[in-house]
Amino acid sequence: MALYITGHKIPDSDSICSAIALAYLKNQLGIEAIACKQGDINPESAFILEKFGFDEPMTKTSYAGEDTFITDTTDLALCPDDILDANVVGVVDHHKLGDLTTSTPLEGWIRPVGCSNTIVKEMFDHHNVEIPADIAGIMTCAILSDTVIFKSPTCTDEDVKAVEELSKIAGIEDPKALGMELFKVKSAVEGTPMRDLVLRDFKAFDMSGTQVGIGQLETVDLSMFDEIKADLLEDLGKLKEEKGLHSALLLLTDIMQEGSELLVVSDDISKIEEAFGATVSDDKVWLNGVLSRKKQVVPFLEKVFRG
Ligand code: MN
Ligand code: MN
Repeated sequence: MALYITGHKIPDSDSICSAIALAYLKNQLGIEAIACKQGDINPESAFILEKFGFDEPMTKTSYAGEDTFITDTTDLALCPDDILDANVVGVVDHHKLGDLTTSTPLEGWIRPVGCSNTIVKEMFDHHNVEIPADIAGIMTCAILSDTVIFKSPTCTDEDVKAVEELSKIAGIEDPKALGMELFKVKSAVEGTPMRDLVLRDFKAFDMSGTQVGIGQLETVDLSMFDEIKADLLEDLGKLKEEKGLHSALLLLTDIMQEGSELLVVSDDISKIEEAFGATVSDDKVWLNGVLSRKKQVVPFLEKVFRG
């Protein structure tokens, strides 16, 4: 029976690249493993796979009865819908511990680092398996993406060290320049439907029974959103209604200015203001220094909704 490896819903480059890298490692260890994804890849991931010559992982949304390895989340809401009917044999993750449970013992690789691929690198080292140049290339890109080229507060020395080693294997001379290239691809919004932008990196959270959706778009220049902010807000409002959310938020992150403008549609804006100690005006608020949804946004909202 094959082992299926998948990252979270609305896959990002970490989910895609860690699934591919981990499937390679498992195959080297004699376990037939197949990298999967739960949905369409984003333009950044497409760029990375193309650059290093990989096909997209297969799309698979049902895992009932299958041996499954989850990467880049342990949140049930972000796992496949039937994950509790699957045989989860392992997890790799770098987020807060979620609510995924298993019925049998599992292999757990969870660390407070900036990217799941940094942990997958540790797994290769642990098993003494050599990392091929192309796999090292996509792992490098995923770490640069998740750590916002080392600027995110989630970035650790292990992430920097992993990029040093992986980029050497991949023959990447200037990882930071490659990182900027990635963020330019990530920033491309022209001609993209508003809903695609809102959902490009969107996660739904259950915060003590309150449903909060938070999307994030990262850019090298926030002004590129000036003309479409009103449209983004309108679509965010529609999404909030469709999904029955209490709040639908979109972080427009400027990696050069090192902060995020938060677009807010909420049943109770005071909750959002309380979370960040800031005033929302015209459905927007600038959050200085905020680059990480996981570390600088989610915990503060969860605290407020916990009451
Ligand atoms: Mn992710
Ligand atoms: Mn990640």
